[in-house]
Amino acid sequence: MHQTDSDAAVAKRILVVEDNDLNRKLFCDVLKSAGYAVEPCADGELVLNSARAFDPDLVIMDIQLPNISGMDLIAQMKRDTSLSSVPVLAVTAYAGKGDEQKIRDAGAQGYLSKPVSIGPFMRAVKELLEPAP
Ligand code: MN
Repeated sequence: MHQTDSDAAVAKRILVVEDNDLNRKLFCDVLKSAGYAVEPCADGELVLNSARAFDPDLVIMDIQLPNISGMDLIAQMKRDTSLSSVPVLAVTAYAGKGDEQKIRDAGAQGYLSKPVSIGPFMRAVKELLEPAP
């Protein structure tokens, strides 16, 4: 069987919030093939309940969601005692001036603008899951 670093311990858990079907499948596929346990979430209104149930080590958060902003969801997570310590990697289609700071101010530890390339995506995931000592 294919052996990766993350197979050595219990797999880290990543909640993938993305309403676009192709992006959600891509993110989930690359994370699964890297050995992570992945839970997809397409509906922003289900994010907080999904996060409480799945107990993730990291949340990938699309900022542009129907009906609700990913920024609002990050802020809600940060106010929830059971979720406030979970790192968030935001992905956004807009890379306007000041957007990164707004998203970080909402509580995201990482930030990538779309289109997301796999290399930088996986590096950002690893950095947030295994912060340098
Ligand atoms: Mn979206």
